Amino acid sequence: MFRHVELAPGVVQIQGPLGFCSTLVLGERRALLMDTMCGVGDLAGYVRQLTALPLIVCNSHGHFDHIGGNYQFESVWLPRLEYPAATLALTADARRDLACRLGKNGGFSIPESARVALVEQSGFDRFRPLEPGTQFDLGGVTAVAVALPGHTLGSTGLLLREKRILLSGDAMTPIMCLFFPDGAGLEIYKSTLCKAMALPMDFFVTAHHARLFPRSALDTFLACAEAVPTMRGLNFQHDIFPEYTGRLYIYQGENSGEEDFVALIGPDIPKNRKQREGRQDE
Ligand SMILES: [Zn+2]
Repeated sequence: MFRHVELAPGVVQIQGPLGFCSTLVLGERRALLMDTMCGVGDLAGYVRQLTALPLIVCNSHGHFDHIGGNYQFESVWLPRLEYPAATLALTADARRDLACRLGKNGGFSIPESARVALVEQSGFDRFRPLEPGTQFDLGGVTAVAVALPGHTLGSTGLLLREKRILLSGDAMTPIMCLFFPDGAGLEIYKSTLCKAMALPMDFFVTAHHARLFPRSALDTFLACAEAVPTMRGLNFQHDIFPEYTGRLYIYQGENSGEEDFVALIGPDIPKNRKQREGRQDE
């Protein structure tokens, strides 16, 4: 179910089913886990195989693929703005629906025991507020919470100060999703990119890739975001939640599997649609 790769000394990316990831940071005295994927499989047991250190668990935001495994841990730090989304995603009905969708739309076969665990362990509420500036001293590594709104309004990253690495969740990624109903919009995302560029970091980590991204990748992401209003884009539909649709703007590369691929999926704004149609008429 899980495998892992060490991205940098003491920074381990755990990969789970469907391309979801959690990042484990190992300090001298404590360890920290960023995000808990969708809740299928014994993530806590897997983490215990990697470290015996006392563990702090954080969620970057309230989406199902970041909070699903929370029930396996004592308490979890979550940005306060994300409480409503997380609470909604963790109801028994939402979990039953997710288990069904992962199988039907995600093509992922969930063991019956995991399906039962997903639903029976619903209603997780042992949250602690992760505010910008919250610090975790792991021993030799300090993780500092940084607000990174865009993907969602409350999206929060963790800057590993001594390592100069930022754990960004879904806030900055080569396939940037701004089409979910709780997305904060293109302008806020662009400001977040500018803010991230000024942070004292050399690399960042996303919740859907098992590699480090150099800080310079943010320049390309910003160029992509700035080009979006001039691009026509393609219709896009989420595979697990087909009711979420948007517009896919490919800035660089042709295949989402390629290393240089950079795209943004934004909402299909009626005004943009009109402009496109107008352009077609010309
Ligand atoms: Zn997300």
